[in-house]
Amino acid sequence: MKIICIGRNYLAHVKELDNDLPTKPMFFMKPETALLPVGEAFPYPNFSQKVHYETELVLHICKSGKAIEEKTASEYYDAITVGIDFTARDLQSECKAKGHPWEIAKAFDCSAPIGSFKKISALKHPEDIAFGMKLNGEWAQQGHSRDMIFSFDKIVSYVSRFVTLNEGDIIFTGTPQGVGEVHAGDKLELFLEGESVFWFGVK
Ligand code: MN
Repeated sequence: MKIICIGRNYLAHVKELDNDLPTKPMFFMKPETALLPVGEAFPYPNFSQKVHYETELVLHICKSGKAIEEKTASEYYDAITVGIDFTARDLQSECKAKGHPWEIAKAFDCSAPIGSFKKISALKHPEDIAFGMKLNGEWAQQGHSRDMIFSFDKIVSYVSRFVTLNEGDIIFTGTPQGVGEVHAGDKLELFLEGESVFWFGVK
């Protein structure tokens, strides 16, 4: 399986990092080793002094496809959860400045914890999905899918022009505003439509 991540998909987050407003989706990838095994703590990487959380809705791809049309894109994903796109912000800033790829800042081990998936058809408000993350018991980030710049269908269609999507692949769909640092000893809990879907510690 592969993990695809969309960047800059919420206006307020684009502004908080002083990035340009995108005219088409921007994506990067993480390897399968970026998943966090259930029951384990996120190991704070020794190569960064500034690891940020980015709380994101994560789509589960249920059918293989290439060059998927936007109007049929919803047939290709069936479930959703919340995940964290951990980012070594200090390394990412260096990469951006040099025009280098982002892998050292984004694709490292355990950088993509995800919750348990829920069927989209069973959600109360599939047209506007509420999600968020509590850091040590306090809301750190809350978002709504209606605030995305690019919809799920647009993302699936766009990504599949370049990369064949396979059943079991997952897509992180971008973070709303409010990204911030984590530290050893923190506890993160992920929520989908008000329901806890995962929690883990930082060690
Ligand atoms: Mn992200």
